[in-house]
Amino acid sequence: MNYFIITYGCQMNRSDSERIAAVLEKMNYEKASNINEADLIVVNMCSVRQSAVDRVYGNIKNFEKLKRKNKNLKTLLTGCILKSDLEKFKKHFDFILSIKALSYWLEILRKGKYFYYPDPRDDKFNEEFNAFYLKEKQKYSNNFSAFVPIMTGCNNFCAFCVVPYVRGPEISRKAKDIILEIENLIKNNFKEIWLLGQNVNSYKDANINFPKLLKMVNEIPGNFWIRFTSSYPRDFSDELIDTMAECEKVTEYLNLPVQSGDDEILKKMNRPYTIEKYKKRVKKIREKIPNLTLSTDIIVGFPGETEKQFKNTLSLFKEIKFDMAYIARYSPRPGTVAAKLKDNVPLKEKEERRKTLTEILKETALEKNKKYVGKEVEVLVNESRIINNELRIFLGKTRAYKTVKVQIPDTRYQIPNTNLIGQFVKVKIVDALPWGLKGILI
Ligand code: SF4
Repeated sequence: MNYFIITYGCQMNRSDSERIAAVLEKMNYEKASNINEADLIVVNMCSVRQSAVDRVYGNIKNFEKLKRKNKNLKTLLTGCILKSDLEKFKKHFDFILSIKALSYWLEILRKGKYFYYPDPRDDKFNEEFNAFYLKEKQKYSNNFSAFVPIMTGCNNFCAFCVVPYVRGPEISRKAKDIILEIENLIKNNFKEIWLLGQNVNSYKDANINFPKLLKMVNEIPGNFWIRFTSSYPRDFSDELIDTMAECEKVTEYLNLPVQSGDDEILKKMNRPYTIEKYKKRVKKIREKIPNLTLSTDIIVGFPGETEKQFKNTLSLFKEIKFDMAYIARYSPRPGTVAAKLKDNVPLKEKEERRKTLTEILKETALEKNKKYVGKEVEVLVNESRIINNELRIFLGKTRAYKTVKVQIPDTRYQIPNTNLIGQFVKVKIVDALPWGLKGILI
């Protein structure tokens, strides 16, 4: 029996799909080389934007075609599913299962059809299932960079966000389980560890908070990098700043979502900080970590956002000079507080605002990247590409999470089987672009 997993959404979902693969292989399923070979198709969905949900409706049509060819084909939906979509999907899937019940999929999949997707915020359900599914071993997608969830869920209820409703309350993994998993990864020569959570800053296991956990991971012997995402400005403590600065393996990269540059909009978004506070935080972090790469998340066109309020986001971008940013146009999400507000910023205007911010980001990111030209940096190679059927380049990330196109100095490395993927290499930066750097392998 073969399985095929379709994954949408964030790193957390990608990590969950690695666990699903491991559980299915325990049941003697094998990975199908393509969707047509599958006897079980798993869709691990995301509901953060309507476009992500629409993709699942798009899959359904294809599944019906595949089922006509393979009568035994079963389809399973999991991941972040909104109540408003659940009933509709029951007509189109054989199984709809909560990811938190992953350890029971073995039994459930013996049934022909089955739905088990309790309300993710149901206390009884969370008492019983907690975050135990995170104890399931993962089938990592590569052998050098690993996603390690440290917690699941979120309690912040930002007015525009569905995560608290689909992922449930914040539940932290046991620190000892996290450390054990990472020790094994490092023993197997992994080079990069991503600590994942919707809000890693509020991680808590008895008296171990996030800075303490970072220190524990940093103490694991080995040559590897530590990254983490996502953070939450209100919970980004001085202790965490000091820990980032002191821990040698913790990289100079931070994603600190601000979401808007206007205090009134932040209040309506239920984001409990002011722009003044956010700027002070960033200033403090940059004092301690001078060559920090800072990225953020922004929503443009939130209900009621005036031209003047948008200008505040513009000036924040000009002042902070982010290296990277995920800029999204506001889209109402069912069940969220903001969905009750009038979505009165026209789509055309939202798109204009997104474009305007992107132009500023391009300028500030290029200005920052130019500082790397002539420098030698360490790069973790994560991909290779053949350009024009002859020139092979490698792609990778610096410690500060800058994307680098690595060119090979001479033909010696043009031999097809030379593989730098998963290795730390030294690179001389020769050019800067808005979204990355170009360099020569040393
Ligand atoms: S902190 Fe992040 S995940 Fe949590 S509700 Fe806000 S935007 Fe969503």
